[in-house]
Amino acid sequence: VGSGVVWDDFVAWAVEHGYGGVENLSLIPGHVGATPVQNIGAYGTEAGECIDRVEAVDIVKGEKVTIDAATCRFGYRDSIFKHEWKNRFLVTYVTFRLTKHPEFKLHYGSVKDEVIRLGEPSLKVIRQAIIRIREAKLPDVKVLPNAGSFFKNPMVERVIADTLQEKYPALPVYPVDDDHVKLAAGWLIEAAGWKGKVVGHAGVHEKQALVLVNMGGATGIEIAHLANEIKKSVFLQFGVWLEPEVNVI
Ligand SMILES: Cc1cc2nc3c(=O)[nH]c(=O)nc-3n(C[C@H](O)[C@H](O)[C@H](O)COP(=O)(O)OP(=O)(O)OC[C@H]3O[C@@H](n4cnc5c(N)ncnc54)[C@H](O)[C@@H]3O)c2cc1C
Repeated sequence: VGSGVVWDDFVAWAVEHGYGGVENLSLIPGHVGATPVQNIGAYGTEAGECIDRVEAVDIVKGEKVTIDAATCRFGYRDSIFKHEWKNRFLVTYVTFRLTKHPEFKLHYGSVKDEVIRLGEPSLKVIRQAIIRIREAKLPDVKVLPNAGSFFKNPMVERVIADTLQEKYPALPVYPVDDDHVKLAAGWLIEAAGWKGKVVGHAGVHEKQALVLVNMGGATGIEIAHLANEIKKSVFLQFGVWLEPEVNVI
């Protein structure tokens, strides 16, 4: 898929043709070329799980290269393109390995409930469900400017999550491996009282606390200030540091 293809056009094409793998990533804004950089992810799926290889131009050597998935070192919202190879390669094509026999991933958040509301699970129904959930929760960038999730879901040791859950039984926890889990950053921010708050021209979205929004005319400093205040208060209440998911320029 060419790097200039709109990501969601590709997802729509895959679903339409019965190829599974990217349906949970419906409606993520942006283009295909950025997907291996951020290893875009949503609703229990990451692009890296079905990226086979990446074609790129090495900007330093001026040569075309093909980079296999293992070399991309995909991690949670992370890849080698954010570290040693930052700004080194211009992605031109991404090759995805999709499947004609998909295993549906319905376990994340409210996906299963929404799918049941819409009918029998299928690629099309899952895409429709994800679009509905996203449209209901995420602000439209054209109406309320935002960069999507501002913070990553923090990864912590399981024992820390267990201790937190004793005090906050509703705290959502997503398993990573035997010793680590991810916490829902949006839940922590909301529980710290930030959901819907506005500071100057910057605010925390009223329906999704993980999204910082520009209410109109907010400066970068205002957004950064709000982000820092949120980080501090989440740390004071839960002892967990939030890391930004966005690029801060
Ligand atoms: C409302 C909203 C919801 C979002 N939801 C999600 C979500 O659910 N999950 C998620 O993972 N992200 C999400 N995002 C973030 C965003 O959609 C992704 O990061 C997406 O990949 C950005 O694509 P882009 O084409 O706009 O890239 P840009 O933001 O322009 O670039 C992102 C990075 O990739 C690099 N890059 C871009 N294209 C290339 C290329 N061809 N070659 C080399 N480097 C390149 C850029 O230099 C930059 O470092 C959301 C954003 C918004 C606004």
